[in-house]
Amino acid sequence: MVEAGKLIVITGPMFSGKTTKLISEISKARKKNLRAVVLKSAIDTRYSRSDVVSHDGLKLPAMVLPDGEACIPVLRRIACDYDVIGIDEGHFWDGVPGLAAALDDLAFDSKIIYVSMLNRKNMGTSFDIGEKLLPLADHIYSLGAHCSQCGRKAAFTQRITNYRTGGKQKFVGGAGDYEPRCRTHFMRQKLVGQSSLAEPITASPKSAQKIRTKIPISPQTLPSP
Ligand code: ADP
Ligand code: MG
Repeated sequence: MVEAGKLIVITGPMFSGKTTKLISEISKARKKNLRAVVLKSAIDTRYSRSDVVSHDGLKLPAMVLPDGEACIPVLRRIACDYDVIGIDEGHFWDGVPGLAAALDDLAFDSKIIYVSMLNRKNMGTSFDIGEKLLPLADHIYSLGAHCSQCGRKAAFTQRITNYRTGGKQKFVGGAGDYEPRCRTHFMRQKLVGQSSLAEPITASPKSAQKIRTKIPISPQTLPSP
């Protein structure tokens, strides 16, 4: 029997196991003899240019999906040859008009689509692609990591290093650049030009001081995933 199409979103902060889950689902599909492929952005060169790699070192050879609107015709072409398509780091295509609808269409066309993506930007705000995709999903895996400060469940991604993007909006960092945090220990980072660059939202003044001392945030802070 032909499998029904599905749109499945795997979301959570960094280090919550999104890529691990994606690799596992693609591998399971292959064991069922489904034609399954995993796609990555050319921007994500953290561990490899050609593989999707988890922070634990699990990996699968991947095809590269172009940035921006060019991804849509490529996705449609790839979908002609595969039953199951996994996209890692879906937030890299944030703001691409028509992408959520195109993925929904593929699911109606009996394709099984997995999209792994961050739940929030490191400033704490949502991604446009998440806002569009989550309501369309047949199933959502909402994963959590462990807060780097207290060990409780973490739903936020804190950037802990400064960086310059040289005019590029996207900064691709890995372990050492970001930490998972719970809401108490997450500090929202404001955009350049705003007066206060790091502001604890829910932490008490005493613990906020402790956190501020641990994480120096410089005026070079720019928006990024
Ligand atoms: P995600 O795609 O959500 O960022 P991955 O699936 O690539 O996460 O990796 C998740 C795994 O990363 C966890 O199971 C854990 O073993 C490992 N991990 C957790 N925290 C860290 C960290 N701070 N640095 C490196 N690896 C981590
Ligand atoms: Mg990942």
